[in-house]
Amino acid sequence: MTSRLRRFVGAQPAAAEPVAVQQQVERCEMCTAQVAPEHGHVVDVEHRSLMCACRPCYLLFVKGDNGRYRAVPDRYLVGPGLTPQEWQGLGLPISTAFFLRGDSGLGVFYPSPAGATECLLDLDVWSGLTRAHPMLGQARPEVEAILIRQVESDVECYLVPIDACYQLVGTVRLYWKGFDGGEEARERIDAFFADIRSKAKPFGLEA
Ligand SMILES: [Zn+2]
Ligand SMILES: [Zn+2]
Repeated sequence: MTSRLRRFVGAQPAAAEPVAVQQQVERCEMCTAQVAPEHGHVVDVEHRSLMCACRPCYLLFVKGDNGRYRAVPDRYLVGPGLTPQEWQGLGLPISTAFFLRGDSGLGVFYPSPAGATECLLDLDVWSGLTRAHPMLGQARPEVEAILIRQVESDVECYLVPIDACYQLVGTVRLYWKGFDGGEEARERIDAFFADIRSKAKPFGLEA
């Protein structure tokens, strides 16, 4: 999973060339049709990569959770937060992490200046948390993730499309400076989470 995230992040524009990138025409990686800046993505499970997709190609892969290509859903959910004790119980050394269930198991990653970094997850603690917080078990394998962020005594929980996690990883990789990230990185990360919050529907009331 790490290699897939790295590959996606590696394809992001370098910080020095945003103007050139904006002028580039984005294309569907399945049929080469031109796509709008806002477009869907399809996960290639076999090659662990994320592909930009036009609407017709995207729709081909909306159904089914076990094929090679899977459309990334566009649902954003917000669940009840964890308590700080619950978060500490996971023993993770960071304040933001995403949990991704792949066909080969569950992984936990955090965004770092080096890209997405995998850390160890205590599966017993995680399954206890999932019983107490049912949304944690609802992310679809390979295409959705649980994103958790601790801000002081609040521990926010979201269910997000996997491409949102890649976006967060790319933001941290591009803007993080020094030990604490610096002001620009903090502002961009806050803006990312504000955007997630504005899109998210409360878990259990989403239908
Ligand atoms: Zn296409
Ligand atoms: Zn894309």
